Amino acid sequence: MSPPRPVSQEAALDTLRQLARAGTRTLLFAGPDGVGRRAAARWFAALLNCRAAGDEPCGSCAECGAWRQADGSLRWVRDYREVSAATTTKEGRAARRPTITIDQLVPRAGGDHDPLGPWLASAPSARVRVAVIDGADELGEGAANAFLKTLEEPPSHARIVLVAPGPDTLLPTVASRCTVVRFKPVPADAETVRRFHPHPALRLGRPASLLEASDEARSAVSAFEASLHGSLAETFEGLKALIEVWQSGEVPGMLRERARARGAPTYLACDAALEEAEAASSAYAHRALVFKRLALALRSAWRHGPGELPS
Ligand SMILES: [Zn+2]
Repeated sequence: MSPPRPVSQEAALDTLRQLARAGTRTLLFAGPDGVGRRAAARWFAALLNCRAAGDEPCGSCAECGAWRQADGSLRWVRDYREVSAATTTKEGRAARRPTITIDQLVPRAGGDHDPLGPWLASAPSARVRVAVIDGADELGEGAANAFLKTLEEPPSHARIVLVAPGPDTLLPTVASRCTVVRFKPVPADAETVRRFHPHPALRLGRPASLLEASDEARSAVSAFEASLHGSLAETFEGLKALIEVWQSGEVPGMLRERARARGAPTYLACDAALEEAEAASSAYAHRALVFKRLALALRSAWRHGPGELPS
């Protein structure tokens, strides 16, 4: 089983075929969230390693067959890795700003035991190792400098794919080392619209972010919303399930969109409550208290009547 090809990104895939042939080693996949950049990175890795010399991974050779479903998404355990910014601090609290740390990239005393640099330098099992740095715009100066040499000239058996909104969101020293591949917003199909209406990602042409959202997150948000109309005990019960899926990063967006559907007063109160909760949790406030305050604020927000939608 090879990774599914990303939808509606033919121009980007064409560029990737050319860059695969050219042996380009450091790439930036630029575009908004949810347009299929990570899917394209997997497809690219499969293409580079497929034993059939075609324009698509063949799906049936030994290398294509090495892709496996893990943690809900397709991974190729042998020569493919993704690194992304940590959304929690070492103390387990929500990070105010997610960042990619130096020890995710290079060896350091007391750091991550499996940083990207040495993995990338070691010999691939198949033909090419592909490392994806997801959220490369969160690459701090220290981490970027420590990794600059590798970005400048990865080993010939290695490719580095940075995923970020665009070159202007990267440090100039990093951007100057990348070949940019642009991904455009893609229209959602009718089935996606039906399932996810009225999620904000639909308006923004980012349906892939919806498909990555777990059913679990969506049902927790629905149950929590229903509990806002029940007793306080019911709301706190709904809150427990909500907290469990909070790390998916999808919850605030879903709550805002549900609030928006109820009108301006609800939306504005919900938005303010979420902002306050995000600020408080990154300021090391007690997490359980932050969520309880949020739940109370949302209960009161959901009691507002309809009004004009904010633009
Ligand atoms: Zn193949």
